[in-house]
Amino acid sequence: MTDPLPDPRPLVIGGALRDATSGETFETLEPFSGAVIARVQVASAADVDAAVAAAAEGQRAWAALSGAARGAVLARAADLIRARRDEIARLESLDGGKPIQETPDADVDSGADCLAYFAALAPTIGGESQDLGGLGGGPWFYTRREPLGVVGGIGAWNYPFQIACWKTAPALAAGNAMIFKPAEQTPLSAYILAEVLAEAGVPPGVFNIVQGDARVGRMLTAHPGIAKISFTGEVNTGKAVMADSAATLKTLTLELGGKSPLLVFEDADLDDAVSAAILANFYTQGQICTNGTRVFVHRDVLDAFLSRLLPRAEAIRLGNPLDPETQMGPLISPDHHASVLAHIDRAVADGATLLTGGGPPTDPALAGKPFVRPTVFLAHDDALPLCREEIFGPVMTVLPFAAEDEALARANALPVGLAGGVMTRDLTRAHRVAARLEAGVVWINTYNVTPIEMPFGGVKQSGLGRENGRAALEHVTRIKSVYVEPGPVEAPY
Ligand code: NAP
Repeated sequence: MTDPLPDPRPLVIGGALRDATSGETFETLEPFSGAVIARVQVASAADVDAAVAAAAEGQRAWAALSGAARGAVLARAADLIRARRDEIARLESLDGGKPIQETPDADVDSGADCLAYFAALAPTIGGESQDLGGLGGGPWFYTRREPLGVVGGIGAWNYPFQIACWKTAPALAAGNAMIFKPAEQTPLSAYILAEVLAEAGVPPGVFNIVQGDARVGRMLTAHPGIAKISFTGEVNTGKAVMADSAATLKTLTLELGGKSPLLVFEDADLDDAVSAAILANFYTQGQICTNGTRVFVHRDVLDAFLSRLLPRAEAIRLGNPLDPETQMGPLISPDHHASVLAHIDRAVADGATLLTGGGPPTDPALAGKPFVRPTVFLAHDDALPLCREEIFGPVMTVLPFAAEDEALARANALPVGLAGGVMTRDLTRAHRVAARLEAGVVWINTYNVTPIEMPFGGVKQSGLGRENGRAALEHVTRIKSVYVEPGPVEAPY
């Protein structure tokens, strides 16, 4: 690959930069300034065909290596990412508007950790065997855990580098090839992943990038040469991906949205509870899938909770994401900004009590930019759209409750179930509530911590499959059972 990348940015197919044949391009903008960072070429159906052919060829060579050899390559890639930490973090902040306080660890380190983790697991991927005839040398079977082949990855814009790594690392560790389509808003950091993987020794064709909008995503989901789609995005898009994948019966991992609950009990350490609620709502401008946007607070501690929360929410520093002092950057785009403000206006019209925030900041330096002040509502009606719909912005809703069963019933009432949290000093209650929350991930006395070792994913309409942890390997491999008959074949005819 070349440095700097050509403009408009090409595709990455078969280990080389390749101009798209569509003739179409799109622009990626800096959310803070609105300036064009780069133009990017849109893949055509023929380009996707070429990517699939290159991936199939690359995958054969890659899968022929031992797990240990693949792991060694991926471990080198992890090191190369760490060596480019500042550069990748800066690009993520520039392209995604995320504060530079966040991107070095939440994005870059998380991506490197993921590659290192699956590098270490690569030599352990294998099957099992079992005797069926006792010790007498009778029949037995063994299983082979095989790669799926070519995996299509479709990413969201909120954690572009991290998502690319979380999808690619387990897939490659298991011997698959990846064709990755970043979200249009944040198409750039995937090129760095392509560079480090190539430099580390991943063969050509094992990691490919196709760029473009939903049309290109649909080309991946429809393609008969792709065995699996690993998708991150909205619930409704996930349903479309699932429907489109049915024609070729692809395996799916769907990492979708949520409206997760955080339960604050009367015995919780309230400073910690406020910290968790802040982490659950305002990190990355609130644009996090697992966010605990419904904060159920026991009515006995409601006033104390709010009196600690509001000053801390109001003290959050908004600004240029590249300024090290900035704690909250702009939302990803003017369209998304308008959508978040519309949700807020609707909630006010519906009668929810706006406690703080609710609109753009007054700082003239931020005027006209897609900022939303950290916003806190108090609501008493779970049926409001505010309490049911994913807003994907810095909007927290505090909902008082009186009893544990009531809080759990309300927490579990939605069709989504990505995550949840419980703040309490009562050990028994903490685990009881964790067991009863309908969620793929539950945090006890913290929120939004996602170590690579821990499986990650949703239940109900928040998704299928798991990323991270050993569990991820089950979703990028298939089992072949091999039955072995050492004796004569007994046929009835
Ligand atoms: P989105 O609109 O659903 O888009 C996600 C990706 O799918 C983008 O690359 C998009 O392309 C592509 N796409 C759109 N329509 C498609 C189709 N019909 N077939 C195939 N691909 C299609 O989601 P987003 O706005 O980027 O991301 C925000 C959402 O992601 C939120 O709901 C959030 O909760 C969720 N999310 C979930 C997780 C998780 O792990 N559970 C993590 C992060 C985000 P374009 O680039 O053209 O839009």
